[in-house]
Amino acid sequence: MSSTLVVNEIYRTLSGEGVSAGRPCTIVRLTGCNLRCKWCDTAYAYDEGRETTVDEVLAEVKRLGGDLVLVTGGEPLLQDETPALLARLCEVGCEVLLETNGSLDIGGLDSRVARCVDIKCPGSGQADSFRRANLDCLRKTDEIKFVLTDKADYDFARRMIETHKLTARCPIFLTPAAGLLEPKKLAEWILADRMDVRLGLQIHKFIWPDAERGV
Ligand code: SF4
Repeated sequence: MSSTLVVNEIYRTLSGEGVSAGRPCTIVRLTGCNLRCKWCDTAYAYDEGRETTVDEVLAEVKRLGGDLVLVTGGEPLLQDETPALLARLCEVGCEVLLETNGSLDIGGLDSRVARCVDIKCPGSGQADSFRRANLDCLRKTDEIKFVLTDKADYDFARRMIETHKLTARCPIFLTPAAGLLEPKKLAEWILADRMDVRLGLQIHKFIWPDAERGV
């Protein structure tokens, strides 16, 4: 019998951020999160979900389109079967992106999986959650994301980037938290400091501004 995961939703959309922003993709959102970021926009994934076999997830991905699959949460690495799901998706030919909050071990996953790893800033209320050892696992195909609410978050991100020479490891995205930080302000700080980063915008919030889920 196929092993199971608790799945919140599976749907077809455009990837909202990071290197894949704007690309059509299938999102697999898994249930549960070990953090509680103040600005979280997917709180509905903390508890809501349905027991689903890995085979059922694969069948739904195949039905919707498995070219690019984004596995997210919640925090997808909380579930024991997530590494097996990621490996199966790779085996059937999907390009697989994993979004993770950075607090859990990202090592030991199928090497074909690209990982988008958050480093939480003070404005999230979860700034101490990052697992430093994850920095040693990063590859060029991964990406790091900081979501920023204010200048203190920006300064935190800048210190992390400089201290750990993060720009040499993979692309770095600084993303303004929607409704909390003006993108223009962030652009000015990046330019003034000559930061070698990318300003990331959550494009689904521009395309579907009223949607609360499923985009
Ligand atoms: S890690 Fe992600 S899902 Fe969890 S609370 Fe933070 S923003 Fe929400």
